[in-house]
Amino acid sequence: MGTKDTVIKLHNTKTRKKEVFEPIDASNVRMYVCGPTVYDRAHLGNARPVVVFDVLYRLLREVYGADHVTYARNFTDVDDKINARAAESGRPIGAITAETTQWFLDDMGELGALEPSHMPRATEYIPQMVAMIEELIAKGHAYAAEGHVLFAVDSWKDRYGSLSGRSVDDMIAGARVEVAPYKKNPMDFVLWKPSTGDLPGWDSPWGRGRPGWHIECSAMSYELLGETFDIHGGGNDLMFPHHENEIAQSCCAHPEGDFARFWLHNEMLQVEGKKMSKSLGNFFTVRDLLDQGYPGEVIRFVFLQTHYRKPMDWTDKKAKEAEATLRKWREMVSECGHVAGNPIPEFVKALADDLNTAGAISLLHEEFNRLRKLRNELAHSVEHEGPILSEEFADFVASAQLVGLLTEELGAWTQSKKLANEVRDAIDRVARIWIGSRRAKNWGRADQIRDELAALGIRLIVDKTNASEWRYENPDYVDSDANRARLKALLKLEEK
Ligand code: AMP
Ligand code: ZN
Repeated sequence: MGTKDTVIKLHNTKTRKKEVFEPIDASNVRMYVCGPTVYDRAHLGNARPVVVFDVLYRLLREVYGADHVTYARNFTDVDDKINARAAESGRPIGAITAETTQWFLDDMGELGALEPSHMPRATEYIPQMVAMIEELIAKGHAYAAEGHVLFAVDSWKDRYGSLSGRSVDDMIAGARVEVAPYKKNPMDFVLWKPSTGDLPGWDSPWGRGRPGWHIECSAMSYELLGETFDIHGGGNDLMFPHHENEIAQSCCAHPEGDFARFWLHNEMLQVEGKKMSKSLGNFFTVRDLLDQGYPGEVIRFVFLQTHYRKPMDWTDKKAKEAEATLRKWREMVSECGHVAGNPIPEFVKALADDLNTAGAISLLHEEFNRLRKLRNELAHSVEHEGPILSEEFADFVASAQLVGLLTEELGAWTQSKKLANEVRDAIDRVARIWIGSRRAKNWGRADQIRDELAALGIRLIVDKTNASEWRYENPDYVDSDANRARLKALLKLEEK
């Protein structure tokens, strides 16, 4: 069975059932995922939907073909949190959003997330939002009041709340809705609001203002994916009000379409039983973890071990185990040569079953152990010659790569720690010359050695408490003849 025949089943929030996924158009499968508000580094919780929907994107590409999947994920670059950040830091809004956007892409890249086909920024779609709001007013679903435009929930009372399964009355009782004099119904939500001179604003039929949060996703998904598309994703914290409001806006502006057919929601990353969030202050960023030396691949592996619809905790123990597993896998695979493989059917089947990444990873463990055992047996057999089980390992690797693990891009971290013995010896000796120079207060020579090693991608670190203790890191060292020659040249300093 090739992966092309794979039957994908996904849990659809809309129907609360696992359903067989059949795309509207198999030659262009379309997915939209709500992206970050760009005012700060992404915390680890924000990375969860990125990894979850990256796995789905990879699976869809595998099954329908890489050129037949369109994935859009937005950047919210107009928002009151951004305005507040600009005001408190005195920096221009554009500088904050540009910097944070790049941070997000860099951090998620280190987790092995592919870039979506489209990454629309809200500020680039203001005219489309204005057009959609005008359409909603014309169709009697929205009204202007005091420089605001509000969506009239009563105009769509029967269907509003159907995603999260609540009635309008329940929502009024349960939600902290903002009561405002210009609202006809407290549930009505903002499509457009006025901006004072110091805030970002655009001219509109209702005066200078800016969009409410929800309208951007409706306008951008319509532009990029059409009035009906296949999958809409995001964290389950967005189900109400954000996703309910997206549905109301899109279905009322484009009643000819049905907006998203499948809704997927990831559960939250937690810290001691509570959602990790900026507002609770219980967060750490992806960059914090990377800086502490957790490779992006390890973070990704830890995520994949929990099903996306279950809450999960980040623990150091999980990370250590993931690191050991990945190191073991990578070492074996590099010994087994490189031939092209195909994902193992059982593995694909697990993934296709509502992204059962946890089950898929268990299968990889089993397969690895089976192959290792076989390999040891063969290695000891007298008749065996040549590479051992290359094809089987290639299928193992192709499976792991289908979920973004064991890829070439994410592999640098094991390289940096797995130096050839001669190289390690040479670095040790050079570092001892360095420490000797420091002790002799020969700072010129010490600095020369440090700089030359740095140019080779090796960083010397002296212990803060005991100056004769040292270690080195070599994240960027590339083992080549030229670099070995440069290390050797440094050893000549020993004789001086
Ligand atoms: P935000 O920037 O807060 O709008 O969030 C961006 C994305 O991260 C949304 O899809 C949220 O659902 C998701 N998200 C935020 N916090 C968490 C968390 N603790 N665990 C998982 N996803 C989260
Ligand atoms: Zn959205």
